[in-house]
Amino acid sequence: MSVPIVRTVAELRTVVAGWRRSGASVAVVPTMGALHEGHLSLVRAALQKAERVIVTLFVNPKQFNSAADLAAYPQTESQDAAKLASLGAHLLYVPDAEEMYPPGFATTVSVSGVSEGLCGAFRPGHFDGVATVVAKLFLQTGADFAFFGEKDFQQLRLVKRLVQDLDIPITIVHCPTVREGDGLALSSRNARLSPAERTIAPKLPSVLFETADRLARGGPLLETLAEARAAILSAGYREVEYLELRGEVDLQPMTSVHRPARLLVAAWLGDTRLIDNVRTSPFGLTN
Ligand code: AMP
Repeated sequence: MSVPIVRTVAELRTVVAGWRRSGASVAVVPTMGALHEGHLSLVRAALQKAERVIVTLFVNPKQFNSAADLAAYPQTESQDAAKLASLGAHLLYVPDAEEMYPPGFATTVSVSGVSEGLCGAFRPGHFDGVATVVAKLFLQTGADFAFFGEKDFQQLRLVKRLVQDLDIPITIVHCPTVREGDGLALSSRNARLSPAERTIAPKLPSVLFETADRLARGGPLLETLAEARAAILSAGYREVEYLELRGEVDLQPMTSVHRPARLLVAAWLGDTRLIDNVRTSPFGLTN
């Protein structure tokens, strides 16, 4: 079996309209391709929830703030299609940049609050690009459900805020971060790590889990975070962009774990930027 591929909004709408006539529910899983087990876990969850599942593959130029990062992004459409076919996804939507942003395109969707700080502080314009493309994908597909990974936790919060604020009739479902056996969160960027970097990489989640645990047990915030930063750097990471404790729902800065929280990190290993996050709560670590 193969998965049908559509490349235009018009074709997409025709397929979805047919499904709707037969009363089917529809889920969408937005991705930038180079699919790995993290993405596939979202597709499996979507297949459990809805009768028809659309996976979108669009490397959104508006959310890249570095031309080199965009150019280096892997393009693996045929392998992605084969993986989706084996899972039983119903449609792969692969618009090109012209289809998404035709000449004259002039609208930007911007979500304040949750998009500020963390990645928002280090990747100017990134979350406007995400919000704009996600709003378009929701309106283009008209899906009932959309699936997102907790791996990109700030993005998840932004998407929830977006649909609430714009009254988009879609339910956002989030799925836990899928990790390698050594704890490293799956990411298409992991392929850029050299073998030496790959051995260092899992130190990031291990410090993150340990630090979240210490904070949950009442460890002092500033000291604990400073020690964690030092541990990440001494493992061989080049730079820690941020390591912050934020509220689980509102992403507001927190000074202690007195309610459910997330510990979020972004760090550079050589030329590769890795992000991760872990849940922590006053009752101990759960993720
Ligand atoms: P991307 O293709 O990187 O834009 O990611 C598409 C979706 O897959 C987003 O909702 C991500 O949060 C999710 N995702 C990426 N990596 C993982 C992972 N390791 N575990 C769970 N979800 C993930």
